[in-house]
Amino acid sequence: MKAGIERVLESPAERIEPLAAMAATLFRPMGVDGVLARTPLYESVVEGLSSLISRLREPGTEILRFPPVMSRRDLEKSGYLKSFPNLLGCVCALHGTEAEIRGAADCDETGGDWTDSVTPADLVLTPAACYPLYPLAAAAGPVPEAGLSFDVACDCFRHEPSRHLDRLQSFRMREYVCIGSAQQVMEFRERWIARGRQLAGELGLTRAIMPASDPFFGRTGQVMAVSQLQQSLKFELLVPVRSSEEPTACMSFNYHRDHFAMIWGLRGAAGEVVHTGCVAFGLDRLALAMFATHGLNVEHWPALVRAALRHAA
Ligand code: ATP
Ligand code: ZN
Ligand code: MG
Repeated sequence: MKAGIERVLESPAERIEPLAAMAATLFRPMGVDGVLARTPLYESVVEGLSSLISRLREPGTEILRFPPVMSRRDLEKSGYLKSFPNLLGCVCALHGTEAEIRGAADCDETGGDWTDSVTPADLVLTPAACYPLYPLAAAAGPVPEAGLSFDVACDCFRHEPSRHLDRLQSFRMREYVCIGSAQQVMEFRERWIARGRQLAGELGLTRAIMPASDPFFGRTGQVMAVSQLQQSLKFELLVPVRSSEEPTACMSFNYHRDHFAMIWGLRGAAGEVVHTGCVAFGLDRLALAMFATHGLNVEHWPALVRAALRHAA
């Protein structure tokens, strides 16, 4: 009998089933794949994770919270369109005179399509929490010798609609960012890889840290991905959420070399180009990983895990 049950559970459809069953308790559908309303139970874990991550903040770190939109010009300048044009969301609006805007809006009632009349605004939906930071940091003047350290967060958008609960179009990202010498950034990343591993352990998550590449767009993108891997620029902390065969990236540890610094003119006191790096925590993926690992009843989670999340009684 037991062998029979195990065989059933091993079929791919059944493996997805436990997550699908959780969806009703954690989320409410909003009519579009990858966009979900969140229940208080789910949010309490996201909040617990956020404060746990805050407690790990290094001294001297400046905190900034970004809105879900940013300057379209700044993101274009960052090179996002070259690397991930397929993922970018752009804010569009009705521009023009009152009569033009009224005409376009009324179209909706006469069977037309008001969106035929929209044109791009000067905003895009922020795709990662650290993009808005680099122009801000550059505007603040030369980077001090000790380097700069930031804590940023943002509701992020990526146009990658999916029915999988761990691949959303709108999700929360928290990041620590380091701007400094190559050595400072490498050491920052080493510290955070160790901390990320330990954090996931305290949360009772099965995890592995693996070299990774970004999903650069198109055929030239594949070359960029290979080069990123060869230079060990990205690592991910993977947790089995949907399945152990395809674990989910819940954190990433990124070294950008001088990519953003060159674009934004980020320089040290002696005029040298600095380097940047970031550690990103996918708050929604981490929260989902917690429920997938420990179940829906937070009261039954291991005491140490609840204590870590301040769920302890
Ligand atoms: P993946 O390879 O799974 O697409 P990624 O390489 O695109 O992930 P990053 O760009 O490093 O991810 O983003 C930082 C973190 O944001 C990820 O480690 C993940 O936790 C979270 N994240 C990224 N994309 C999504 C998404 N579509 N839905 C939910 N969380 C996401
Ligand atoms: Zn980043
Ligand atoms: Mg991705």
